[in-house]
Formats: sequence, structure tokens, C-alpha cells
Amino acid sequence: MGNLQSLGDVLRRRFSIVPAPTDPEPPEPIPCAICGGIEWLRRDVPLDDPAFGKAFPCSCVAAAWEEQRQAAIRAWCALPATMARCTFESLERRQDIPGWDAAVQACLRYARGESEQPILILMGGNGTAKSHLGLSILNWRLAHGGPYGRYANTADWLDELRATFNKPEGYDILGMTFDQLWESYVKADLVMLDDLGMQQSTPWAREKLEQFLDHRYREALPTILTTNLTREQLGPRLESRLRHERLVKAILLDGPDYRLKGGA
Ligand SMILES: [Zn+2]
Repeated sequence: MGNLQSLGDVLRRRFSIVPAPTDPEPPEPIPCAICGGIEWLRRDVPLDDPAFGKAFPCSCVAAAWEEQRQAAIRAWCALPATMARCTFESLERRQDIPGWDAAVQACLRYARGESEQPILILMGGNGTAKSHLGLSILNWRLAHGGPYGRYANTADWLDELRATFNKPEGYDILGMTFDQLWESYVKADLVMLDDLGMQQSTPWAREKLEQFLDHRYREALPTILTTNLTREQLGPRLESRLRHERLVKAILLDGPDYRLKGGA
């Protein structure tokens, strides 16, 4: 009997000619007592109620759907898991950085959408918490229902773009072609490009970065940049853009190494 069984398995695997033994029918799931398995409900409200005629997920699916929605938002934001802890609450107060409190307040205003300038650039040496501040804005938006920001480490992002550039279909990265990856950033409600200036400075990378920033400037789209370069080191094109005070809020953070103390 054992031999026949294994012969059947072998034939099934190799030639797909022997039908698999049929599994017993799974028991019918018991339909939800509230929605009867339809998963959507309408509330019994008067005609002038804003909820009139609208469908709401039933409590039998609402929690799972919300969890899926949150996971999809987080995936879109592209924030590495380790950066979830970079919030305003977890910021250490930096008395060693002149103007620290004002910088934090400016970032909070930016998070709330109250900043007058759409472009925020956080400048400072390594360990001045500039990435932590920028990430606090993205995490604040996640906690307050958006508009959500899409994150990229500038060097990694340019590498990903380069890897998809001029490639035939099927050579996409993260399920996206070059155009899809490009547009998902260039048109996003909010973008954070972290560590600007640390990327390989090839002519192609420079051109793409300038194209990207040109578009964000032209359309006055909310954009957070962090860099440890000085204005002069950013190069004349970027430097001249930073002088647009109507569009750009530049915050200089100056202080000793923050990373040694475990900051971002
Ligand atoms: Zn239900």
C-alpha cells in the first residue's frame, strides 16, 4: 500500500495525470450575525445626516481592513522600520545646538502644514539630529492621518532609479519601472530626501536630482531635505535655489556628534 501511494505521488509530480485525492469539503463558515457576510453596512440615519447612504465596513472586518490599510500606507512611505522611533517625542533636547527649540518648533509647524515655505532644508554636521527632525515630521503625519510623506535616502534612491533606467519591462525594482518609481516621488504630497550630497556625483545622478528638485520647486511641493554639506558645497544651482526665502525654510543645526549618543 505504501509503495502504491508513493508511485501515485511520483506520477502526479512528473506527469500530472493521476488526480489528487479530493479533500473533504471545508465546513461552510458561519456568516456574521451583523452583516450576514456582506461586510458592508449602511447606518440607519436621517436624510440630512452626512452618513446617510454611505457604506461602512462591518465590525467583523473593520479591524483587519484598517490594519491592511496602515501596512499599505507604511509601505508607500518607504520608511525603514528602525526609523519609526524617530519622533518629536523621542527627540533629545539639545542645549548644545544654538536655536534648537526654535528648530523643533519650526519642524512641528511644518508637520502640521502651518509652514509658509514648502521646502524645508535641515543643514548640519553629522550627529546634529537633522534626520531625526525630518523623520519626526513623517512619523507625525503617519500618526495624524496624513498627508503622508515618502522617504528616501538620496544615494539609495538614485541607485534604484539608475537600476531601472532604460530597462525593458520585467527589470523593475520593488515592482516599479523607472517611470513609476520616479513619479511616486516627484509627484508625492510630501517627500523627504535624506543625506543630500552623500550620493555618487555622476552627471546622470546630478541631472536627475536637479530635475527632481526643479519640479518640486516649480510646483511648490512640500519637500524635506537634509544635508551635512554647506550651501557652497551644494553647488551653485542648488545654492541659488536655497536663497528663495518665499519657498525655502533653511534650518542650520550646529553641534557635536549626536549619533554617538544614540540619536539618528
Ligand atoms: Zn459582519
